[in-house]
Amino acid sequence: MKIQKTPSPNFNARTKPIDMLLVHYTDMESSEAALSWMTNPAAQVSSHYLIDEAGGIYQLVEEDKKAWHAGESFWQGRTNLNDCSIGIELSNPGHSHGYQPFPEAQITALISLSKKIQNRWNIPLSRILGHSDVAPRRKQDPGHLFPWKRLSQEGLGLWPQKVKPTQTLDITENLAQIGYETISLTQTILAFQRHYQPHRVDGIVDEETRSLLQGLLSLHKKLI
Ligand SMILES: [Zn+2]
Repeated sequence: MKIQKTPSPNFNARTKPIDMLLVHYTDMESSEAALSWMTNPAAQVSSHYLIDEAGGIYQLVEEDKKAWHAGESFWQGRTNLNDCSIGIELSNPGHSHGYQPFPEAQITALISLSKKIQNRWNIPLSRILGHSDVAPRRKQDPGHLFPWKRLSQEGLGLWPQKVKPTQTLDITENLAQIGYETISLTQTILAFQRHYQPHRVDGIVDEETRSLLQGLLSLHKKLI
């Protein structure tokens, strides 16, 4: 796997061990524009890696340093997730410039790179997530076209079976048990759907949403 170094000045020292992998899209018109932005000191943003549409991998920040990709973020009671995460940006125009499907070469490169990162730091499957999972009120990336199910089949992340929901299934409480912030329940439901029910991202909880949530909860309970 060829990795091209394009160092960014936008990083600082880590304050926590690495235990999370976050996937983003760049939301910019081209990978060149995104690389140029993330290596500009004025931007105050970066990520560890960027993968372009052709599968080219660029490293901007060393993994043992903190890159600035997650912003205000929350998962399982913890905030400031740049401290503990590795960030990978996928070049994509995003919802700002005409969201596109992720090309095969880009996803293949992401899978290879993520497997290495996951092995290197022993990142739990429940902590391989998208930006919108950890910042549901601000972010949509990587969005409903990102192939989370396929990643889970490659051993990267969790994918729930549908399980008949219990009578007591409380949506807010159970999303929180998984790790989500629930300040705006609708925004959190949208984030859950982008990840686990991508064919129906409307913020409305239906029978399938409930079954997927119950399935994800039982996976989480098995992991504890
Ligand atoms: Zn992002």
